[in-house]
Amino acid sequence: MSTLNIRQLTSQVKARAHELGFQLVGVTTPAAPPHLDVYANWIVQGHQAEMGWMATDRARQRRTDPKLILPECESILVLGIAYPPPSSSSEGVAAYALGDDYHNVLPERLQAIVAFIEDQVGHAVPNRWYTDTGPILERELAQRAGLGWIGKNTCLINPQMGSYFLLAEILLGIKLAIDAPITTDHCGTCTRCLTACPTNCILPERTIDANRCISYLTIEHKGFLPTELRSEFDTWIFGCDICQQVCPWNQKFAGQTPDPAFEPRPGLPPEKPADELKLTPQEFNRKFKGSPVKRTKRRGYLRNIAVRLGNQPDQNDIPALITALQDFEPLIRAHAAWALGQVGGTVVQAALQTAAKTETDPQVLAEIRAALE
Ligand code: SF4
Repeated sequence: MSTLNIRQLTSQVKARAHELGFQLVGVTTPAAPPHLDVYANWIVQGHQAEMGWMATDRARQRRTDPKLILPECESILVLGIAYPPPSSSSEGVAAYALGDDYHNVLPERLQAIVAFIEDQVGHAVPNRWYTDTGPILERELAQRAGLGWIGKNTCLINPQMGSYFLLAEILLGIKLAIDAPITTDHCGTCTRCLTACPTNCILPERTIDANRCISYLTIEHKGFLPTELRSEFDTWIFGCDICQQVCPWNQKFAGQTPDPAFEPRPGLPPEKPADELKLTPQEFNRKFKGSPVKRTKRRGYLRNIAVRLGNQPDQNDIPALITALQDFEPLIRAHAAWALGQVGGTVVQAALQTAAKTETDPQVLAEIRAALE
């Protein structure tokens, strides 16, 4: 294909991607990402917490070279799609998670782009696409494709859109015209995100210590939440947007034509968080079918709800928390005990004492005893 044809094809592909709802589209090469040393160091420090899939030899190896994923790769199309920014009514749930799960929404559109390319060139094109699902350093590729710079809060920030958008990538066995990277750091002397983060999880080198990140802890972390951080969760029950909310680039630009698929679904955030503690496994699955929230499973979601109730002590929530002390999931019983300890009072004390007599799980019993103290 001649240079002219590559340019024509690239602009047609970008136009098709825009039609499919992607506001940002850029192209980069399959060269190694520029900050592999930062990633390697992050893993060595254990800042990926329990996300073991990021630290396997195979995953590390593949992140160093996109051609290990697709040997025929000649260019990478990087796409960004906006979701509605947080509002006063979206308290407690990260804005991206209020609508349909992007893992369900985006694949069809990525496949449509591949089909369009194949249609244009008249033959099958080797390809591999991801949306937060593969072993590639997508923010680095996005920066190199001209979509934005990596902010101190670790998000990719676009100078016209802020950071409330999702990324996707298509590795292609065909040449497209490469875009210029964004090489300027527009954070300057600003440190708002570092100051605002309640758990101080934002590190130098524009990385995050997942062990302390509310987003990681409420979504990916499967076990007990660190006791010393629970009160910092405030109202967050799924994810966290604080470091994005305070960013001046979002305050200036957020709210640009987000995709309708990501508009908030009914029931999110929950109107009465205490009522969520009554969700049976079947009700949880029904309620969150097609929602990102399903990732926590019922036990993670109800654990987070309990912590929120502990952070906003209200006598009216005591009955729901006492019922949760009998939940079949030890994780939920333990965090309900912690929350009751935060609420306090004679009714709570009696309920905790009763639960302590029959509780058989040593970790839950320890939480009950700590709450009683
Ligand atoms: Fe950069 Fe300031 Fe935004 Fe943090 S809040 S990402 S320092 S511009």
